[in-house]
Amino acid sequence: CHMCIHEEMLKDVVRTRSYQNVITQNNFLFKDKIVLDVGAGTGILSLFCAKAGAKHVYAIECSQMADMAKEIVKTNGFSEVITVIKGKVEEIDLPVPKVDVIISEWMGYFLLFENMLDTVLFARDKWLADDGVVLPDKASLHLTAIEDAEYKEDKIEFWNNVYGFDMSCIKKQAMMEPLVDTVDQNQIVTNCQLLKTMDISKMSSGDASFTVPFKLVAERNDFIHALVAYFNVSFTKCHKLMGFSTGPRSKSTHWKQTVLYLEDVVTICEGETLSGSMTVANNKKNPRDIDITLKYAINGNRCKVSRTQHYKMR
Ligand code: SAH
Repeated sequence: CHMCIHEEMLKDVVRTRSYQNVITQNNFLFKDKIVLDVGAGTGILSLFCAKAGAKHVYAIECSQMADMAKEIVKTNGFSEVITVIKGKVEEIDLPVPKVDVIISEWMGYFLLFENMLDTVLFARDKWLADDGVVLPDKASLHLTAIEDAEYKEDKIEFWNNVYGFDMSCIKKQAMMEPLVDTVDQNQIVTNCQLLKTMDISKMSSGDASFTVPFKLVAERNDFIHALVAYFNVSFTKCHKLMGFSTGPRSKSTHWKQTVLYLEDVVTICEGETLSGSMTVANNKKNPRDIDITLKYAINGNRCKVSRTQHYKMR
């Protein structure tokens, strides 16, 4: 359903209200400025910017939704301020050489899935004025570990015996696909660790591929069935720092969290460390897909394991 994704995004109040608050509470960023809305969808961010006093907003959208955005802009009386351009950011001609502000909601599952970040960086390098701002300008990826016996049983072990048949070959596939779902904060066993911060105003496309170490320290005695990744975004150019988190301790969003099941059930005691590294890279064949390699090890009282696992988001 074509409307559905936009309906889901607009009804995600954590997401949409954050952008609205950033824009309406920081008029100084928009007043009399030229704004570029990268991937405008229904045009909601452009409308917020126009209301905040932007001189002109260019709303670029490649899908059919661009036609709707045009009509929405007209219906709401912003035709003089907002120009909707239907096409790919990488292919369109912008009527102005430079813009003061680039605003975009480009984040995917696991932050980087679907790789729209490249489109924002492309727009930044091509059109952003030297003293221009990108909103949001910071995005960070975080990791924690959870107890998840019940759901792992349901999603993974299920394939061992399906109406009496062994379908365990599917189990390998299921293990490799990160699961996008909401995690209950009571399942969290360790601390939450920052893996990577990206500065959207300075980074290059290659910075979205990386290997980073982690050390997760248990806050109680428990089992670990999965690692959980989530992201935060922030708008540091506001009067006061603004942003939101998609973590399990925050109000849930349509991005939920990303669950990576472990081959081993790790028994961990309070104070012990599960350490390792995570490698994230765009798939060579299909750059919209993400390859994740997880290395983890524990040398604890109850459990000693060391393993490397590969995952693919698609
Ligand atoms: N800004 C809207 C929509 C965000 S979803 C909102 O906040 O509600 C991202 C949008 O970007 C989608 O509508 C998608 O069609 C569009 N998009 C993705 N890649 C694009 C590209 N390369 N050029 C133009 N639009 C793109």
